[in-house]
Amino acid sequence: MLSSTFRMRSLGFFTAWLAILPSAFGWNATGHRIIAAIAYERLNPKTRARVDELIKHHPDYVAFLRDAPTDPAARARAAFIVAAVWPDAIKGDPRFWDDTRIDRHPTPLLPGFPDMKRHTNWHYYDTPYAPDGAEPGHQDPPHALSELPRMIREINRVSDDTASYDLPWIEHIEGDLHQPLHCVSRFLKSQPKGDAGGNFVILGERSNLHSLWDDAAGRDVSDSYVTKYAAEAVAAHPRPKKIEKDPKKWIKEGFELAKSDVYTFGNETGSRDYPLRLPSGYEENARRVAQAQIAMAGYRLAAVLNYKLK
Ligand SMILES: [Zn+2]
Repeated sequence: MLSSTFRMRSLGFFTAWLAILPSAFGWNATGHRIIAAIAYERLNPKTRARVDELIKHHPDYVAFLRDAPTDPAARARAAFIVAAVWPDAIKGDPRFWDDTRIDRHPTPLLPGFPDMKRHTNWHYYDTPYAPDGAEPGHQDPPHALSELPRMIREINRVSDDTASYDLPWIEHIEGDLHQPLHCVSRFLKSQPKGDAGGNFVILGERSNLHSLWDDAAGRDVSDSYVTKYAAEAVAAHPRPKKIEKDPKKWIKEGFELAKSDVYTFGNETGSRDYPLRLPSGYEENARRVAQAQIAMAGYRLAAVLNYKLK
């Protein structure tokens, strides 16, 4: 069961603000599942066998299989798909603790885990965007740009236990970085601390810019929906010949998309009392961009794993 939580920031007062905001944390479970489904289908037989083996070493492997089919191949695919959501799932799991909070409460180390941190700051890299000349902020590591390359580098050199911990994180962060708002924070004179990847751009009582983009591939987590969306996305966006495998380039693309397709409504932030009204056609375009990004994320995840786990 996936629980809702927030995109926590390292600054305490931000965390306090976020506690009153609706859930927002990267493509929702649907988006991450679709990306994993697209990638899994494109793993070479040897890589797929290696991935299937690694997942079995994960301490939460049994939980991955909760609703899995009995057929062995379908079961392995289901585990890979659920694993992609694990880094979000632990945000609401009491076994884990939020190392980015000032009022943090460490939990006991359990067998099989390197640590029990939620690592909420691994999910994004805030390229600063300052369209009205505000002073841009800066995100210190650890973040997606430090951690994802590290885990990709090490996955074929570390123990199976460490690799099994890294794998869901690689699946997950790779996906997150294809959601443009995981690659940016916008700084305005009226919002000098930044908008936390659109979390502080208010669209309504329970909605903000970040959550709109997280949900742009839908909210249905059923395998039939995931499989259908995956098929449609790859049909609409065939695999390019050259696949970019550098996370730094993925972030740069996400940042460009943020400028061209996300922050297209001007220097507004909305508020509780006066939520931002997006231009007509905005959501339709978000769904279009999301579909292309999700297809690309699937191809790239497969390419990275095929390259590293051969
Ligand atoms: Zn995430």
